[in-house]
Amino acid sequence: LISEAGLYTASDQIIILSPENVDSGLFNSTAALLVEFYATWCGHCVAFSPTWKSLARDIKGSCDSEDWSNACRKFNFAITGMHYILKYIKIVNRFPRDVRGLRHYIIDKLEMHNEAWPPACPPLETASEAEIDNFFQTNNVKLLALVFESKDSYVGREVTLDLLQYENIAVRRVLDTETSLVSRFGVTDFPSCYLYNSSRHISRLKVLNEARTFYSYALQRLPGVVRTGKPQIAITDLIKNSTLQEWRSTRVYMSDLESALHYSLRVELSGHISISGNDLTALKKYINVLAKYFPGRPSVKSALKTVDSWLQQQKGTEIKYSDFRDTSDAVLPEGVQWVGCQGSESHYRGYPCAFWTLFHVLTVQAKEMDPQEVLQAMRGYVSRFFGCRPCATHFESMAQESMDHVTSLSATVLWLWSRHNRVNNRLAGDLSEDPYFPKIQWPSPELCPSCHGLKKTGEHHWNQEEVLTFLRNYFSSAHILMDYLQ
Ligand code: FAD
Repeated sequence: LISEAGLYTASDQIIILSPENVDSGLFNSTAALLVEFYATWCGHCVAFSPTWKSLARDIKGSCDSEDWSNACRKFNFAITGMHYILKYIKIVNRFPRDVRGLRHYIIDKLEMHNEAWPPACPPLETASEAEIDNFFQTNNVKLLALVFESKDSYVGREVTLDLLQYENIAVRRVLDTETSLVSRFGVTDFPSCYLYNSSRHISRLKVLNEARTFYSYALQRLPGVVRTGKPQIAITDLIKNSTLQEWRSTRVYMSDLESALHYSLRVELSGHISISGNDLTALKKYINVLAKYFPGRPSVKSALKTVDSWLQQQKGTEIKYSDFRDTSDAVLPEGVQWVGCQGSESHYRGYPCAFWTLFHVLTVQAKEMDPQEVLQAMRGYVSRFFGCRPCATHFESMAQESMDHVTSLSATVLWLWSRHNRVNNRLAGDLSEDPYFPKIQWPSPELCPSCHGLKKTGEHHWNQEEVLTFLRNYFSSAHILMDYLQ
């Protein structure tokens, strides 16, 4: 079916079918499946694979292929990895070749299927005034989002599917021809989104742009709206806890960066009694970029320089960790104090958060002509030493895919940002996600409005120039907060 040396890996959020799992993955599935059959030698298949991967990322919110929610299982699509099998193994080879077209194609097929509509599925058809009037008597949700739009718009149905895995909210589409509802809600723009609650209060959803991504993002973040299976965050928690306000502050703290250094050099590396060969090369590159670019206190910078020159002097093929530690012990801070990276519970956030932050800072600080320097140092460290091994495998597969194509310092900053967003996308809703800090495509429209734009088709796009300016400012040494340092 799909050869082992295929075009996709597990990090692409695509289920890879093999002779071993095809029965359980395909024929006995209760979900509707979208399956691509391909050959690795087929040029069209290779050219199509980035679109297939983007589609998987794009509709991930509506159907997580690794962990289908019950609703999803009954209804949605799992993307498996150039034909489609839909319902009763329907093979199609004429289909859109772009993500937006594929998404609309999926919705059309869902609406055309002629079996009974599964009870857990949200209706995709338009809502009538009568349905809305009786909505809270017949549905156990607190909030109804209404997308007012024209007949041929897909926005309402896309937002409905994006919110499928969220509780306490329902989404319906209303056509611009429903004149009575349109005038009752005072709707003047199509599309636009309105919130309606059981007290019959109506308010317009405030978004940067009237489009799917902005609606879905804003609705998923409304108070009380939570991903299925995630604990409800008490509203009182949000206001009473002043520390939480600080956790939520969106700034880079030196305390997190120094804590990442402590954890990496004293805890993570200490698992290695001796370090040799490629591990030693990776360690030297890592310490070297830290010594060159870590924008820390003078004492920390000088400690890193000491370790770097000691390491560069080691001409043998092996060092002892204890010698390395003795050298690095001099002035590096002890212990960890997470501030911007503090989780709502101790098992959330912390080191991995600070490690990402550290490398975003380093990509912004880098000055050398070699644009690969910081990224390759990160790649080496993650692959050889980063304690989370599945993280290392995923990161390495992203690095293999495109890190070598980075040829400028700006591209370095943007590469790490976009790959971090891929990881955020993959982990959204995961068990490791802190409910107080949901994984989002970052920076949010609130944090950087100019980073977000709309294509003529209504699709979201990143204004990369603006993102670059934002990152250079956000991770600049001048903006790092020195509060909470020990
Ligand atoms: P993080 O994702 O750690 O982000 C830290 C901070 O960086 C955020 O608070 C935000 O201010 C900022 N930020 C967020 N997104 C971006 C962006 N796109 N660009 C710039 N800044 C951003 N965990 C797994 O469960 N599975 C994995 O496969 C996995 N792979 C990982 C690979 C690497 C290289 C690393 C360093 C970590 C990995 N993790 C993985 C951990 C995971 O990515 C998070 O670090 C962890 O879940 C903590 O999340 P967080 O909410 O603190 O935010």
